Amino acid sequence: MRILLLSDIHSNLAAFEAVLADAGTFDKIWCLGDLVGYGPQPNECIDRLMDLPNICVAGNHDWAAIGQLDVSMFNPDAMRACLWTREQLTPHHVDVLRSLPDMLVDGEFTIVHGSPSDPIWEYVSAEKYADANWSSFDTVYCLVGHTHVPVVFQYAGIDKRCREMFLPWHEAVPLGRQRLFLNPGGVGQPRNNDPRACYAILDLAAYTVEQRRVAYPVADTQRLMLAAGLPARLVTRLSLGW
Ligand code: ZN
Repeated sequence: MRILLLSDIHSNLAAFEAVLADAGTFDKIWCLGDLVGYGPQPNECIDRLMDLPNICVAGNHDWAAIGQLDVSMFNPDAMRACLWTREQLTPHHVDVLRSLPDMLVDGEFTIVHGSPSDPIWEYVSAEKYADANWSSFDTVYCLVGHTHVPVVFQYAGIDKRCREMFLPWHEAVPLGRQRLFLNPGGVGQPRNNDPRACYAILDLAAYTVEQRRVAYPVADTQRLMLAAGLPARLVTRLSLGW
């Protein structure tokens, strides 16, 4: 079973298409939320994902776009993009977003956007947040998104600080049997100073994970964002990867 592990597509269809073209064959997509927000093609991204075999959890931008989260919790640019997204979503696409669970478990994997103790909002962005969450899930592995930064936090024992690790690019490495948090990075708005779309391949037969990056036509997405009147800062950041 080969899983295409995605997070934070953020209405960026060009980035999503580049990932799909680069991924090769896969059996299923596991999507860690934030299908919409920031980018210019929310309905198209939802349709593209739902046309493929997938499981998907909700992210904070998905909830905000359908009014399930108070948009005042966002920064001004994210809020503007969210309000724009609300105007674009058709009733069908609102229903799709509303149907997304906030957490899923598949075999040895817990699947969530933020953290297992606060699935929509908490960022597992540093060792201390991972360490505060080991008791909040029962599986061996927890897959998270939300930060848009590819990283692994590996359990190191009771009362020990976990290990932060950055996986090699384009190399399948063993998952191991130690508990861990794994974040595949962001497809539609990568944030670690690299504008290329970021994702991972999980091979559940070989028990490996491969972290990947792929270039996409950033200017195409930016053109659509400008035409939609989305905030200039959100347009610029796609060129820089922050
Ligand atoms: Zn996000």
